[in-house]
Amino acid sequence: MPGEPLDTRTTAVFVGPTEDRESLAIRWLDGHVSTYAPRYLRLQCPCAGCIEEMSGRRLLRPGDVPEDVYIRAIRYVGRYALHFDFSDGHGTGIYPFELLRELCICGEC
Ligand SMILES: [Zn+2]
Ligand SMILES: [Zn+2]
Repeated sequence: MPGEPLDTRTTAVFVGPTEDRESLAIRWLDGHVSTYAPRYLRLQCPCAGCIEEMSGRRLLRPGDVPEDVYIRAIRYVGRYALHFDFSDGHGTGIYPFELLRELCICGEC
């Protein structure tokens, strides 16, 4: 078979707003649905400005992010990651699907 096998846990089949439009929903190939509050995603930003590269120490503090932050735009980065443009002007984080699946806060995960 050509190509790599798809990991059903980290392959997104749907990325978009939840019904109430307040959060981001991702449906995975294994049938699981994850929902993320925009502020939660913003606080988990993995970019070099938010996490110290060498130590992995988080530089971003919760007080740095407005309570009502929202996602202005979502862009695919290849097949493996998403890029979010946040309303607080931050947009340097690349979120691999693997990370997003890890960040799922539902009881099952
Ligand atoms: Zn960041
Ligand atoms: Zn989950």
